[in-house]
Amino acid sequence: MTESIKLKGLDLLLTYECTSRCIHCCYRAGPGGGETMSVSEVEGYLTAVAGQPLEWILLFGGEPFTCYDLLRECVALAAPLAPVLVFTNGYWATDPDTARHRLAGLQAAGLDYILFSVDAFHQAHVPLERIAVGIEAARQLGYRTIAVDNRCLSTPEADNPFNRRTRELMARLAELCDLSDVDVGRGPARPVGRAADELPFRDFYASASPRSTECPLPDYLGGDLRAPTGVEIHPGGWVNLCAGLALGNARQRPLSEILAEYDPDAHPIIRLLAQEGPPGLLRLAQRHGYASDEGYMDGCHLCYQARRFLYPHYPDHLAPLRPYHERL
Ligand code: SF4
Repeated sequence: MTESIKLKGLDLLLTYECTSRCIHCCYRAGPGGGETMSVSEVEGYLTAVAGQPLEWILLFGGEPFTCYDLLRECVALAAPLAPVLVFTNGYWATDPDTARHRLAGLQAAGLDYILFSVDAFHQAHVPLERIAVGIEAARQLGYRTIAVDNRCLSTPEADNPFNRRTRELMARLAELCDLSDVDVGRGPARPVGRAADELPFRDFYASASPRSTECPLPDYLGGDLRAPTGVEIHPGGWVNLCAGLALGNARQRPLSEILAEYDPDAHPIIRLLAQEGPPGLLRLAQRHGYASDEGYMDGCHLCYQARRFLYPHYPDHLAPLRPYHERL
């Protein structure tokens, strides 16, 4: 049955380009990452969602400061519709003047919420000192919300080298700058995209039976495949729930129509995920010839591996290809 999607959150992945090549990145972003949205595309998406009960619009990537002019224009276009958040790795905060200049430009366009990645994955590429410079610059400019996001291997409390490194980094960051008014969020890196290839999940997770798992769609997407309240739009127009799970392509079909005519039962992958969970996808993949007997860390790992095998069979539903392959 058609269920019009009521959007609380819109995530615009402005670019796959990034200064870093983090091993946990579900979008496989990186240097020379290519595709970036155009201003007119973003304008079109925002026009399509103008009547939605939006509570936030997230601009991210890849690294959105690599396309700074586009980012500033998008902040200005999005700010009249909902509070805007920008998610960054902070590479651009090389010194206080540069950081203030960059953040002041976005603030003038309507931004007052900046979110920095800090963890073992990102700090393999970005000096921690830059995050401190960025936080202090945002504070001096009067940003309403300054936040830090830690991605973890397994739960944030789990004891493994990545999480220990992240805890050390946060302690060091507290020495470099004042974190008293900084919101700190933590969550697991999901075994999707590059993370499934490169993170040593097997060393730190007890291998789990996926039989009874359900799709744990993230809260920011609404937590329920049958009634999502958020979507991610990729460069190239693909409208995703989870990375690589497509509702349609907004270059081929108006976004307003994709949202208004959402029908989980008519979507061969979402229907199966909603009814049977990731094990249903494994059975579908096996019917198509999937014969891997590797273990799965959790339902998302199973879901992703099954989807990676299935995507040639479902090009309209498992797209873009980017989460499934490093470069195509
Ligand atoms: S990887 Fe699959 S099971 Fe996990 S949140 Fe995404 S769609 Fe759901």
